[in-house]
Amino acid sequence: MSENEEQIVLRIDDLPKCPRCEGDALLLAQFPNSWKNNRGEDVDGLREALLCPACDREPAAAELVALFAVDDQVDPSNADVFGGLVAAWVESVRHREVDLAMLDDQEERWRNGDL
Ligand SMILES: [Zn+2]
Repeated sequence: MSENEEQIVLRIDDLPKCPRCEGDALLLAQFPNSWKNNRGEDVDGLREALLCPACDREPAAAELVALFAVDDQVDPSNADVFGGLVAAWVESVRHREVDLAMLDDQEERWRNGDL
């Protein structure tokens, strides 16, 4: 791990609609995301993820959705649980998006006849 503390910014008000089902999202997370470009250089970026109760079915997301179903607002008594679930969910989103990026890359190479 680097010495940079990971910063995840959460928003629960004024959320955009879910881009997948156009339903109401529960939570928006902004998190730093760095990757290597095709010259092998580190690129720092910021990603956003929406938590949608209809679309997000992976275990980490489902646990978060369940927490929202119980507590309308997150209060200090469950903030630790909430923080842990958010971190797990962001981690799963990060992996999902990385996988999608890889798939896109492979598809492009396939179209170009590189595979
Ligand atoms: Zn959705």
